[in-house]
This record gives sequence, structure tokens and C-alpha cells, in this order.
Amino acid sequence: MEPDIDNINPNREEIFQQSKLIVIKVGSSLIVEDKLGAIKKEWFASFIEDVVDLRKQGKTVIIVSSGAINLGRKILNLKESVLTLEQEQAAASVGQIELSKEYQEHFKFKGLICSQILITLDDFTNRIRYLNCKSTLKTLIKFGVIPIVNENDTVATDEIRYGDNDRLAAQVASICEADLLILLSDIDGLYTASPKKSRNAVHIPTINEITDEIELMADGPENNFSQGGMKTKIEAAKVTTSVGCNLIIADGQKSNPINNIDKSKATWFLASQSVKAARKKWILNMKSLGEIIIDFRAEKALKSGNSLLPVGAIKCMGHFSRGDVVTIKGEDGQIIAKGLASFNQTETVKILGLKSDDITSVLGYNRKPELIHRDNMAFFN
Ligand code: GLU
Repeated sequence: MEPDIDNINPNREEIFQQSKLIVIKVGSSLIVEDKLGAIKKEWFASFIEDVVDLRKQGKTVIIVSSGAINLGRKILNLKESVLTLEQEQAAASVGQIELSKEYQEHFKFKGLICSQILITLDDFTNRIRYLNCKSTLKTLIKFGVIPIVNENDTVATDEIRYGDNDRLAAQVASICEADLLILLSDIDGLYTASPKKSRNAVHIPTINEITDEIELMADGPENNFSQGGMKTKIEAAKVTTSVGCNLIIADGQKSNPINNIDKSKATWFLASQSVKAARKKWILNMKSLGEIIIDFRAEKALKSGNSLLPVGAIKCMGHFSRGDVVTIKGEDGQIIAKGLASFNQTETVKILGLKSDDITSVLGYNRKPELIHRDNMAFFN
């Protein structure tokens, strides 16, 4: 069977223009000099310029940056070719502060604020930490900050480690509902075979569906060039395209890597649906763990695009935590929508029918008033 490869380049400009939230993953080899272990100053400054350009176009940018371990190993003078986990953790600790300092100085000079977020795999598997991470990222974005994310290599042990920032970046893109993830490294995309081993290897510019064949190209027994990172990039593409986010694997070695993307060789993985449509489908397919019955006024408000507030909720059933999917029903028992609960079931019961101003005094803490935010709701047609 022929792989689902479209050799006509997608309208790259259009995809870029339509992408409002872009996550950029920068590989270590782009930032850190191989032999000297120092930051590649010129390249780094050109990358920052590109990010500033994106911001001027009104786009939100999140950077997932590697480089901590390589920077730290040089500073600590660790010459072994393979480091132990403990050495890597120490190197990451030393290198991360250096890496963050570089980002901070450059962005400050351009009048922008950046922040540091260190994440472990565990943070995404624990529901509460996942939601907190999401909410922090969203808040930073609202403040106009550029979050700089890396794996928290200092505390991550092998069992709970991504080990690569490709999959971490895909999780970040998915959590923030990004439109586009750009994986910048020294690889210009996917080939039908290893270009190092086969003269017949053909570069694939566009992939519309990640079939088994595509996966084999990155992981095939006789094409083992995937060790260089293609396998994790395909894994990342599987995550992002399933949530409606396009992904580009591009060679970022030259200066101004983002501004040059539409001119350079790259592989584009195209999502078949928008972020919104994918999210709606996901919410509707999730098992509902509870029900909230709402009055006619709230039903009307919801249908005109508003969030569900406690004041319009009459009854609540089931056992659900914050972030679980619940069904919203009308007074007449008709199913209206499904949505992600902002409060757990015990909290929801306490604030049923209350005006938003009274919630804090009843719960004893201050939280956003929506029972279900409109962005977290999907209606049955
Ligand atoms: N988190 C690692 C670092 O900062 C990099 C992982 C990767 O290269 O994907 O050094």
C-alpha cells in the first residue's frame, strides 16, 4: 500500500498565518556549540529575533528549549561521553540556570518577559498537576509572557522521564491547544529511507496521516536512522495531529530558523481537523462522571455562547473531580452538552444556585466562578 504522502507542499504561508498559538521546540545542538559547550550567540540572537517577529504579528509563542545538560556538562568539565543519571541531573541543574539567563537577557533587551517552567512526565499523568500546569501556562500567556519550558531533568529519574523534548513539546502543545508545533533540530524531516544509507531515500514534505508505514520509515529495521530522534518526532506528531495541531520538523541550523521555514526543506504533519473540533469530539467521547441540571435561563445563556455559572445550576449528581467530564441537562431532562467541571462534585453541590460573588465566602477560597467554562463545553447537535 502506498503511504499517504502528499508531495504537493501545503500552503505554508496560510497555515502560519492562521496559527495563533505556536510552540517551538529547540534542540540542544542548535543552541550549544558541539566542542566548546558554549551558547551559539549569533544563532541564538537570530532565533530570538524570529520569536519577537512572531509576537509582532500578534502570535502567542511558547518555547520548549533543550540545552541544559550540554551547557552544564561543559561548566562542570564532565568529559565522559556517556554521563550517569546523577551526572546528568547535576549538569542539568547547572546548565538550566545558564540557559534561562540567556533567554531572559535577550527577551528583556527586546522588552519582553519570559518565564521558566520545568516539567516532569509525572506532572502530566497526575490530573491535578496537569490542570495546574495548564492553568499556569494559560495565565502566563494572558500576561503576555513567553514561557520557556524544559524537562525537570534534575528530579526526573529514568522511569519518570521523557528524555527528549519532542514528546514533551507535543504535550505542551496539546495542553495549551496550540495550532502549530515546530520541532527545530538538525534534521530536515522524514525520508522514505535513511538518507545516510540509501541513495534512493526520498524526502517527504507533507504527511496527512501517520500510517504504520510512516512509522516504519522512522523505526524500520533497515532504516535505523531514527536513533537520531525521528521516532520521538513521529510520536510527537501523533499526539499533536490527534488534537488538531499541525507539526513541522525543520532543520533550524541556519540563522533566523523560523523566518526561513517556508523556504527550507521540512516535513509538515497536517492535522485533519481544527483544535476546536478535535477538542469538542474528545469531550463528547469522554465518559461522563456526573450530571448538572440547569434552569431554562442558563440553558438559553449557554446556547448563546456563555459559560455555565452556579446561579443557573439546580442539581448535581455523580462523583466527579475538577477536570472530569460531566453531562449538562435541562430542567426537562434533555441532554444539552458535556463539559469539563471546574469544581469537584462536593464543591459544586455547595455552590448550586449561588451568585458568583457569594462563592468565595461559601467555599472559603477564591476561584473563578464558572462551573463549566464555555471553552470546555461541547454541545450535542
Ligand atoms: N532536557 C534536556 C536538556 O535540556 C534535553 C532533551 C532533548 O534534547 O530532547 O538538556
